[in-house]
Amino acid sequence: MPELPEVETLRRALLPLVVDKTCTALKFYRKDIRFPIPQATLRKQFANQVVSEIQRNGKYLLLQVPNGAMLLHLGMSGHVSLQESMTPQEKHTHATFRFDSKTCLHYVDPRRFGCILWVPKSGRHPLLDKMGPDPFSPDANAKAMKSLAKKCRSPIKTFIMDAKRIAGIGNIYACESLFQAGINPKRKAGRVTLAEWDRLLSCVRSTLEKSISAGGTTLRDFFNPSGDAGYYAIQLSVYGKEGEPCQKCETPISRMIHSNRSTFFCKTCQPH
Ligand SMILES: [Zn+2]
Repeated sequence: MPELPEVETLRRALLPLVVDKTCTALKFYRKDIRFPIPQATLRKQFANQVVSEIQRNGKYLLLQVPNGAMLLHLGMSGHVSLQESMTPQEKHTHATFRFDSKTCLHYVDPRRFGCILWVPKSGRHPLLDKMGPDPFSPDANAKAMKSLAKKCRSPIKTFIMDAKRIAGIGNIYACESLFQAGINPKRKAGRVTLAEWDRLLSCVRSTLEKSISAGGTTLRDFFNPSGDAGYYAIQLSVYGKEGEPCQKCETPISRMIHSNRSTFFCKTCQPH
């Protein structure tokens, strides 16, 4: 599944292709993906308008035009490829967008968990409204998170993976950040102190940042030859390392199943 770093890398790769440019043609090959595609609105509001910037909020990309933004989400299996023609080149191509004579973006999503939507100028959209702040946003600060987690009895790992609290932290990044911050994944979220929140959020950002900088810089090297947006080869400290010695203390890394997901941690470095 494309994670936040892949989506951020895609954003950066798309910047030179679409910012200050105009989508002169768009074609849709389905009425819906996860949700209906608002084709008429996109033709009216997005086509032939200059894209001023691309914002990212969690795993959503927002291509801004004067009256609002086209929202792209890759879901579980989606990707965007760069082609010279509007003709679909891959199975499961659901939409194609022409930006200039040699730049056509193809939206491909085999499992159809992604979406293409329109967000009005107000920035309000049910999908965005119920989402917590992006980890890189100033709103994702220790004070705000501590107050949000007040009296919360769910484990800190579940809490930071809940997009309604903070957006876009997947299992790998949650395990790695909690290890770096020295916090046990099972600790009750409401018991995490302000100083620990501060440390944890900075570990979340540095883990994501490392993965973002390991990503490619162009659309062509963003996707491997099979077209999958694979995980970047970042140095993982605990994820997938069960039984291997901890990098900090050499205690074998433990694994437990937690909300149906594997959780990796060091019981010495993350005692509570
Ligand atoms: Zn350790």
